[in-house]
Amino acid sequence: MLAAEISKAQEDTEAGDDFSARIGSAVAVAAKFADAVDEGARFPREAFDELKAQRLLGILLPKRFGGEDRNVAEAAQVCYALGRVCSSSAMIYAMHAANVACVMIHAGNSEKFPYYLRRIGEEQMLIASSTTEGKNGANVRSSASAIIASDGGVSLDRDASVVSYGASADAIVTTARRSPDSLPSDQVLALFFKEDYTLERTSKWNVMGMRGTCSEGFHLLAKGELEQVLPEAYDKIHRRSMVPVTHLLWAACWAGVAAGAVERAQNFTRKISRAQKGALPPGAPFATQASLALMQLINLVDSSIADYLGRAEEPDTLDEISFQTSLNLLKVSASEIAISTVMHAFNACGIAGYRSDGEFSVSRPLRDILSSSVMINNNRILSNVASSCLIGGVPDSIVKPR
Ligand SMILES: Cc1cc2nc3c(=O)[nH]c(=O)nc-3n(C[C@H](O)[C@H](O)[C@H](O)COP(=O)(O)OP(=O)(O)OC[C@H]3O[C@@H](n4cnc5c(N)ncnc54)[C@H](O)[C@@H]3O)c2cc1C
Repeated sequence: MLAAEISKAQEDTEAGDDFSARIGSAVAVAAKFADAVDEGARFPREAFDELKAQRLLGILLPKRFGGEDRNVAEAAQVCYALGRVCSSSAMIYAMHAANVACVMIHAGNSEKFPYYLRRIGEEQMLIASSTTEGKNGANVRSSASAIIASDGGVSLDRDASVVSYGASADAIVTTARRSPDSLPSDQVLALFFKEDYTLERTSKWNVMGMRGTCSEGFHLLAKGELEQVLPEAYDKIHRRSMVPVTHLLWAACWAGVAAGAVERAQNFTRKISRAQKGALPPGAPFATQASLALMQLINLVDSSIADYLGRAEEPDTLDEISFQTSLNLLKVSASEIAISTVMHAFNACGIAGYRSDGEFSVSRPLRDILSSSVMINNNRILSNVASSCLIGGVPDSIVKPR
């Protein structure tokens, strides 16, 4: 079914410039190499060559910067479509797109940023991010290394302990302390291009799932122009763009991974049922539960995207505690629902799902989706939002204003 959709999409691409056909073309390549990427724990080079060829890496940027003026819902669609076939490609795309959104939205009146953004769009650059530092884990609102201003430029020396696709990226967006005298929470966001930095590998990425994200550790040494540090304080970027866009796109990616597993469960159930002259296999209720959980997940992501897009028109509303809490909790609940969706799919497929090979194997999606609970640990988020949940109470209305 998916293969037919993909080849149809490839035909559409040849016929004209259709967004979903361009996505389909990248999905087809990602699907072809997904097992090899997982087995080799290697960067999905072929998928990203195709995403670049289809000019899908800069879609969020304005047209004048080589982009397409598309919104987060459209970027989420790319994440979802990729997630169905190759979780690592989807997650890399999600992280990249969130980085593009942050620098684009918060470039302000910087004189040089239009030039940087044009480079990103026209050259279809892939942008990695470094927020995890040293042994600090995902405490994103605290930085140890500082931006040092000297000779009219800036430099940074950072223990970037997890940087997905760092070795394959064209640029890195990183948090840092504003200056050596600043507090750890007084942070900025800086953009460094490949020619601005060196990366010395400090750890490997030998993990259970999401193996193609190649989230290795590096010693990052960077030098650049003063203007490569975004003018806006990071706490505002964090609230208004980093957390919302990142969580929305991660959730879209996990929904895609879950959908890929549900497709396998449905196909398995259909096949057994056909072989048994219409009698459903004992695991069929799990396939139904997998479909139900996927519907819940998609509704959750869809309504959260709508909420974000509405508020992005009036950015002050992004600061409201209720929105911040809901976007933080979106990460936790999308992760939990996605994991249980894949588990239902696994139970529907039984031994065929437990196998590491075969068309009904749920091994790769299951290993990949487990990353969702530790990629900024759900426990950490739950404890961070505990107080704001108490302040917010419960909503007065069942229908959200749109
Ligand atoms: C696939 C993948 C890709 C990634 N890519 C990148 C990347 O490109 N760039 C990047 O910078 N990072 C990346 N990371 C790292 C990620 O951002 C987190 O740093 C990492 O997942 C660790 O998160 P953690 O510290 O919350 O969780 P853990 O290391 O699991 O934390 C351990 C435990 O400590 C608890 N804990 C610790 N401190 C606190 C606290 N202050 N409050 C509450 N609880 C606390 C948590 O509850 C948790 O249970 C990636 C991670 C994954 C899985």
